[in-house]
Amino acid sequence: MAEWQSVIRTRDFPMIAQGTCDGRGMVYLDSAATTQCPRPVLWALEDYWKHQHANVHRGVYCLSSRATAAMEDTRQLTAEFLGASAEEIVFTAGATDSLNLLAEAFERSELKPGDLVLTTEMEHNSNLLPWLEACRRSGAALETVPMTEAGTLDLEALERALERRPKLLTVCAVSNVLGTVNPLKEIVHMAHEACTAVAVDAAQAMRHGIPGVRELDCDFLCFSGHKLMGPTGVGVLYGKAEWLERLSPVRFGGGMLRTLSGSDAEYESGNRKFEAGTPNLAGITGLGAALEYLHAVGLKRITRYERELLHYAEKRLGAVEGLRILGQPEERAGVLSFVLPPLQAYDVAVLLDKRGFALRSGRQCADLLHARLGLSGSVRLSPAFYNTRAELDRLGDALEEIAAVSRKAGIPVGKTQHG
Ligand code: PMP
Repeated sequence: MAEWQSVIRTRDFPMIAQGTCDGRGMVYLDSAATTQCPRPVLWALEDYWKHQHANVHRGVYCLSSRATAAMEDTRQLTAEFLGASAEEIVFTAGATDSLNLLAEAFERSELKPGDLVLTTEMEHNSNLLPWLEACRRSGAALETVPMTEAGTLDLEALERALERRPKLLTVCAVSNVLGTVNPLKEIVHMAHEACTAVAVDAAQAMRHGIPGVRELDCDFLCFSGHKLMGPTGVGVLYGKAEWLERLSPVRFGGGMLRTLSGSDAEYESGNRKFEAGTPNLAGITGLGAALEYLHAVGLKRITRYERELLHYAEKRLGAVEGLRILGQPEERAGVLSFVLPPLQAYDVAVLLDKRGFALRSGRQCADLLHARLGLSGSVRLSPAFYNTRAELDRLGDALEEIAAVSRKAGIPVGKTQHG
């Protein structure tokens, strides 16, 4: 274990250092669902509630000005993190909220009967259902681009679908089940050639070395703070300035009105018109602290370490008799899902929990993907930079033990397709 990693693990992450839940041992391996918060984020939250809590943009008094400045500092930090400008950042409640907001705005401003929206077979339901609803309401069609057998996006199928000039393609940067890293630059280029706008669901990608938005040239991108060492309830929607100008607001209230005369309302321009009401100020402060923390530790170092850890997990779990790792993408980041047939994914996760391992199981909010794989569920391992190889070895041992017990009980491990 690298020295920096050992220090971080014990010094910065109380939940990891304590290593218990309800008095039982715990190895936390569910960071694709939510990452643990480092102490600087916890301190920032405490400091916010103690010394900064006031509404923004509404008061002229000192405390309100301070709260406003803190929020705008985080907007600037977020913009730098994405390679965008501050005016292109909309604060939301998370990736799901960002995608709903975008789908509603697109529906209102762009979609009409007969239009086409593309999504993919590997999307999280949060990047499927908002579009399904927006298309249903507007009369547009929604189609999904399939995956290949290896679990990568079928680029030939995408090429064919783009010939019909869809209004928008919405695609994840990294699959939350297979860890597939999509070739975003190529995808965006292909889509733009067909005059199709591109939205990127980067919820699983932000710690894994995703290029900046200018380099990607995507039109929209979103993520959640809580998968990036920040608190829950805060997220970001990036939109190219011209797109934010063009789209209509979908939520109405304080903070986004410019003038009102009679029943004629004129709204703020750009990102401002999408932030009606009081934002999650504590959450935004926490997100800012998380970004600063990641910067201080070094995002490149984190990305490299987490990739090594995932490769190691792939080798270790691949050696467990009967265990099948899902997908064989050329590039995998963040997550590794598997099945241990004939045991159900749920049962494997429960047996792992009894041995002190916290892993996600089920369809992981990716119903289309599991249907395509013919599985009712899978178990997902998602380490972060506070995890170690030793923990993965212990997980491998636990899975071997579970498989052995299952064999002993007369259940032939590895013989069926059940998830
Ligand atoms: N997209 C992807 C790829 C995800 O993994 C998730 C979270 N599991 C989401 C969207 C939704 O994120 P949130 O629940 O934070 O809104």
